[in-house]
Amino acid sequence: MFSLATVDFRNSPIAGEGVFAKRRFAPGDLVVPYAPKQRRVGARDPEAVAAAETKLTLLSEQHWVVIPDTSVPGGWLCNHSCNPNAAIYSDGAGRIQCTRPIAPGDEVTIFYGWVTHGEPTRDPCRCGAPRCRGFINYDVSDEDADHMRILEDNTVVMDDVLRAKLAAYGGFLKSIGQEQVQETIANTLVRLKRRKRGSVVCAY
Ligand SMILES: [Zn+2]
Repeated sequence: MFSLATVDFRNSPIAGEGVFAKRRFAPGDLVVPYAPKQRRVGARDPEAVAAAETKLTLLSEQHWVVIPDTSVPGGWLCNHSCNPNAAIYSDGAGRIQCTRPIAPGDEVTIFYGWVTHGEPTRDPCRCGAPRCRGFINYDVSDEDADHMRILEDNTVVMDDVLRAKLAAYGGFLKSIGQEQVQETIANTLVRLKRRKRGSVVCAY
């Protein structure tokens, strides 16, 4: 059968079904749309919150959540790797874009950037990269929050212990071009700190 498809969807040694290149991709190339068939709901919609539990959502422009129709394969099937060859972009309908040269047959992988709280072993990683970190998620603990303070003017102050811990992970993120995850980590810590102080926690 003749097909213009640039990727295949099939079983992956990493997990479940994955996305595989059918041709060569260079950094910057569009590999595959995130979800050819999808729906968008407001970020605060109960359906969006429920979908987030399944980890099958994409927050777009901070206001919308893209929910893929899983009867149609797409970039949402990309597995995580600690040394990804592509990245997910959430603007518009969402897309997977090449970040390192990809050869035909290679599995197309992205970095999930999941940040958890108090669940350090939640998502074991089987990406097989030489520098695999063992887990997909980066976990922050209550103890981490004890190493930071939020001043009256909302300035966040970290002590040397937390600073060193975050710098170590920051170095890894930088090496794979995923520095934006640092913001998620910082936001998670701030949310944790605010909750511990007994003030109202915003859902987002
Ligand atoms: Zn890994």
